[in-house]
Amino acid sequence: MTEGTKNIVVTIDGPAGAGKSTVARAAAARIGLPYLDTGALYRAAALKLKQAGIAPEEGERITGALSSIDIELLPDGRITACGEDVTKAIRTPEVDRIVSAYAARGEVREALISIQRAQAANGLVADGRDMGTVVFPDAELKIFLTASAEERARRRCLERRAKGEEADYDVVLKEVNERDHYDMTREIAPLRPAPGCIILDSSDMDAEAVTDVIASLAGEFMEQNRR
Ligand code: C5P
Repeated sequence: MTEGTKNIVVTIDGPAGAGKSTVARAAAARIGLPYLDTGALYRAAALKLKQAGIAPEEGERITGALSSIDIELLPDGRITACGEDVTKAIRTPEVDRIVSAYAARGEVREALISIQRAQAANGLVADGRDMGTVVFPDAELKIFLTASAEERARRRCLERRAKGEEADYDVVLKEVNERDHYDMTREIAPLRPAPGCIILDSSDMDAEAVTDVIASLAGEFMEQNRR
């Protein structure tokens, strides 16, 4: 980043499979800011709680367990929980299915919010569901990235098949719709466009084109603030 440029916070929220993490990672590299994948934090918490036999309804046990599940995002993009590398384990269809029920719990959100804010001292690009609404409401640039449910399910299928996993389009479409419904209708920090955000529909755009738009909006903002 150019010397004297303000370290800005860019938030990218949106439903599952809209391409947030691909675009957020690429935009962060382009702008010269760190990237924060908050979905990975929720996935790691859900995985560890599930492994410990703690259900989403067990509020007190969740708080106790999360105080000792030390979740760390490493600079190379890997993620650890209790020192164990869970980078691959958090991307399974099983975690896709359980994560939203844990993420709806206030105890889980409270434990993860300070980890997220602690990363923002030098600016960042963060993607998730409540980045612009709750975690970084004063962010300089807020994006809501969406795409049709059919297109998002198609992308998820391609991703899974690229990893050698089976993926039935109708099943994936149902899962994507269910997870979005859960994320949008929960009481705490529901998924919705933040006030003042820019809504981008990526149904007919590839990741490169979306990255271009976000990087250029961030560039304009930084240019205006240098003057
Ligand atoms: O973005 P990703 O699909 O990895 O997120 C997994 C799940 O984590 C979401 O479906 C949502 O339930 C939860 N999440 C959240 N708030 C965030 C990021 C993710 O509730 N900021």
